[in-house]
Amino acid sequence: MKLYSTKREAPEVTLKEAVFRGLPQDNGLYMPEHIGTLPQSFFDHIEELNFQEIAFEVSKALLGDEIPEDKLKEIVDDAINFEAPVRHVHDNIYSLELFHGPTLAFKDFGARFMSRLMSYFLTEDEELHILVATSGDTGSAVAQGFLGVPGIKVTILYPSGKVSHIQEQQLTTVGQNVQAFEVEGTFDDCQRMVKEAFLDKELSQKLRLSSANSINISRLIPQSFYYFNAYAQLKRQGKDKVVFCVPSGNFGNLCGGLIAKRMGLPVIRFVAATNVNDVVPTYLNTGVFSPRPSTATISNAMDVGNPSNFPRIRELYDQSFEAETTDILGKHYTDQQTKETIHTVFDRADYIMCPHSAIGYMGIKEYLDELDDEAVAGIFLSTAHAAKFGDVVEPIIDAPVEIPERLVEIVNREKVAELIAPDFEVLKQKLLNI
Ligand SMILES: *Cc1c(COP(=O)(O)O)cnc(C)c1O
Repeated sequence: MKLYSTKREAPEVTLKEAVFRGLPQDNGLYMPEHIGTLPQSFFDHIEELNFQEIAFEVSKALLGDEIPEDKLKEIVDDAINFEAPVRHVHDNIYSLELFHGPTLAFKDFGARFMSRLMSYFLTEDEELHILVATSGDTGSAVAQGFLGVPGIKVTILYPSGKVSHIQEQQLTTVGQNVQAFEVEGTFDDCQRMVKEAFLDKELSQKLRLSSANSINISRLIPQSFYYFNAYAQLKRQGKDKVVFCVPSGNFGNLCGGLIAKRMGLPVIRFVAATNVNDVVPTYLNTGVFSPRPSTATISNAMDVGNPSNFPRIRELYDQSFEAETTDILGKHYTDQQTKETIHTVFDRADYIMCPHSAIGYMGIKEYLDELDDEAVAGIFLSTAHAAKFGDVVEPIIDAPVEIPERLVEIVNREKVAELIAPDFEVLKQKLLNI
């Protein structure tokens, strides 16, 4: 797997380099030079395979030339160790639940896969040090995803008092190779300290630093697996005409689906749904892409004004607007619509959705209504468990949202975090003393 930069100024790299580097020197994004298609026989029998088997076949097609099959199988089996079930909601609408991992959101797939790929690519005596600043979600997915991974140490910086209680517990109670610094400052302070660390000569001589950046190509790869697996689940029920709706922010999740389609997955169309941060839906409707500062909403993981994966979508379609709009339809919704939908679907189908997933539901419902074809099954991606957004969801449905058992256990553990000043020199000394 050779990867090029979307800006085409940085040299092509191997997967190993792309995974460790994250970003090309020209500030573009890494993209695979070639995305192979899977044979028809794979799709003819896909319903006979389980999630891990499907993930292995897909990853072989993408990475088989860089990683031997037995190792790849280990990586996939270890990373994909929880289910992504498709639940029937009502009529032709299905929910692809991506929240059965350790932090109850789909980002667990990317974090777990990336950590295992990094560990595989490290040579025996090498040690990698992952440094991340977080406002909550990314850090908890990284802490859980890298936990216990050989050869890798993780340091997480989070702003004191500014992450949710559950997120703080997920960052600060895991122990082992993960340590947390509680910074007496804001998220911006944390991010500045991390940036300074990457620029510091002494640190980079003594430690092999890497980021667990959300645009790392290794995160996109596992995000294609569950589209295939969802298709297999519906095919088992005799339905093989599918559309997907992806609630989107930085559009990495949608990219995973577009890659799956490129590999041959027979998807009729994708609906890209956003909240009022609708830069991409507006682009798909008008051809004009104009990024702008984000607006805060109740689906806050999608509050993105300049989606980082947009150049990847353009590359996948060779910059052809016509090809893009053939495959992708844009929709956007307000907070008011989101709240009404969470309420209606709970009443009608007894199904509880987080605000992000509700935007996915609205996108697929509207599209199916327009399409008016009984044979088509609509699948929306449920990107987080409603319990993560209990303070928003509970008043809307006027009922408690149960927290899954494994989280209850984390909430009761003891927090271990060192309180530090928002000062890079303090962080540097701590890192050098590790
Ligand atoms: C990150 C996130 C999204 C947006 O995913 P992108 O890949 O950035 O488009 C949607 N929902 C939840 C719950 C998320 O955490």
